[in-house]
Amino acid sequence: MASLTDNQAGRLYALAFGAHPDDVELACGATLLKIIGEGFPAAVCDLTKGEMGTLGTPDIRRKEAAKAAEVMHYSSRTTLDLGDSKLFYSEENLAEIITVIRHCRPDVVFANPPQERHPDHVKASKLVTDAVYYAGLRQLETVMNGRKQQPHRPGHLLYYIQFTHLEPDVIVDVSETFAKSREGVLAFGSQFYREGDHEEPSTLINRKEFLTGLEARARYFGEQIGAMYGEGFLLPSKLAIRQFSGAFPGRPAE
Ligand SMILES: [Zn+2]
Repeated sequence: MASLTDNQAGRLYALAFGAHPDDVELACGATLLKIIGEGFPAAVCDLTKGEMGTLGTPDIRRKEAAKAAEVMHYSSRTTLDLGDSKLFYSEENLAEIITVIRHCRPDVVFANPPQERHPDHVKASKLVTDAVYYAGLRQLETVMNGRKQQPHRPGHLLYYIQFTHLEPDVIVDVSETFAKSREGVLAFGSQFYREGDHEEPSTLINRKEFLTGLEARARYFGEQIGAMYGEGFLLPSKLAIRQFSGAFPGRPAE
């Protein structure tokens, strides 16, 4: 992969969308850290504030999302208000996502997977998938801060894997960044198990085993590619190999 040239410096490379604050950190945080470590800026856009969550308040979740953005070194984190549990497929919601894509102009977009347990995740997946396409249409007008936006279609879309088991098309080796990515997850303190907390309602993700379960999956995906940790992704279309030796590197020089 080419390194950043001067005129690309600061240009956003990856934009990760999540239906709720913490979706991105839980599913592809280590990959985002790897991208940032390679010198390519990455940002996050949450489609909702997560106000329907069993745990935490919108204010707590806003502070947690900001803390996660800080420890993960995102270029920016945008939180839209498309409505937790009301994330409907509408022209308005689609337009808001297109506006963010055209503003950030990423090369790579990450989205919730098309099959998931939480209905918001499925809806977010469809909305972001379609917005990635529509953002490239010249005739579809969006305006930001009183100015008409230029069309932009990101070159690559990847779906991360959440609760539902899906067979990944690609696995990213995140052995170097997995441990650090847990700091981004733990920034969402209201959502996960804490020692001594016994009065809060129990949810699927605040059980003590939840985070170790996630780690087990990352180990399993890592094992599939001979690495310590891996994060799996689905692709909406076939992966094109542009530079053969980049995708299939030879042995290091002896
Ligand atoms: Zn979610």
